[in-house]
Amino acid sequence: MNTRRALVTGGAGFLGSHLCDALLADGYYVVAADNLITGSLENIAHLRNDSRFEFVEQDVCQPADWGALAYVFHFASPASPVDYAKHGIATLRVGSYGTFEALEAARRSGAKFMMASTSECYGDPLIHPQLETYWGNVNPIGPRSVYDEAKRFSEAVTAAYHRYHKVDTRILRIFNTYGPRMQIQDGRVIPTFMWQALRGEDLTVYGDGSQTRSFCYVSDEIDGILRLSRSDEHTPVNIGNPIEFTILECAQKVIAVTGSRSQIKYEPLPQDDPKQRRPDISKAKRLLGWDPHVDLETGLKLSLDYFRKAMLEKTA
Ligand code: NAD
Ligand code: UDP
Repeated sequence: MNTRRALVTGGAGFLGSHLCDALLADGYYVVAADNLITGSLENIAHLRNDSRFEFVEQDVCQPADWGALAYVFHFASPASPVDYAKHGIATLRVGSYGTFEALEAARRSGAKFMMASTSECYGDPLIHPQLETYWGNVNPIGPRSVYDEAKRFSEAVTAAYHRYHKVDTRILRIFNTYGPRMQIQDGRVIPTFMWQALRGEDLTVYGDGSQTRSFCYVSDEIDGILRLSRSDEHTPVNIGNPIEFTILECAQKVIAVTGSRSQIKYEPLPQDDPKQRRPDISKAKRLLGWDPHVDLETGLKLSLDYFRKAMLEKTA
């Protein structure tokens, strides 16, 4: 087994590309596999000349021989509600066939495995904040089910490979994470508000804006991911920032940070949009000694240059 070679599925995506950077800095050789359905080669352009980095354009639902691996990070999946609504079947496929293939790659190599799961597993939660032991409140046939149920299935397959095949697995439940390299038009709330604020357009708050989210800056998330990757914990672990904002407050923060004159306009709330979301991170604190440090205002300021450049490139 090559103890220093990692496969990152979804490696050209927002989180996958930051994870590739972190693994390279940690001494790994990294293979990023991505079919670019929602990712971008620009996210990994800076790694092109790194001899320890390899990019393979590949649909990870298809079988592939990845050679000897020490770690498989399965991050491939459309992640924004707009993206997974557009690519519903592909989202179900990568969460099912893709997860089987990623786990088989880990099993063949005796590699460790991490699956990028999500707070969406809790659906529209009836328990607040969300603890890992909560089983969730998900509409199995609603418009978000292509993502939510794919991720819940993916968790089930991961747990089964641990139980039956003794694969050394980890399940990471990511809560809304943002930062540079998000696609500015992927429809998620922070890129959308940034785009609108930087262009002086009204910010589109869905519903009355009282629904909540808890936003984690990407560097904190990656720190949590690395810590979890080194731990022996096989049951799910929440990694997210527990400071909760209403979406209206989020819009006001983006307007303040960008110095924009934009106003707020209200649009209908999408079906099954979760009303509240905040991670209970006591498990991550206890097991991993992890705590996020970047508050929303700081994270928005750190992301501003990136979003401005992305907006200008799109409108050029
Ligand atoms: P992203 O869309 O930027 O990245 C996903 C990547 O997966 C893209 O590069 C895409 O092209 C690739 N991909 C999708 N299907 C593929 C396939 N069949 N074969 C190969 N590549 C494929 O999204 P992200 O925010 O970086 O999300 C990464 C992972 O983290 C996803 O699994 C997502 O569900 C999970 N997650 C992210 C968040 C967040 O807030 N960013 C929250 C919860 C979970
Ligand atoms: N949202 C909004 N306006 C937008 C985009 C999103 O009000 O232009 C809301 C959305 O309805 C949800 C929250 O922001 O309540 C977070 O949405 P996002 O798509 O970022 O992620 P989610 O947490 O729903 O997966």
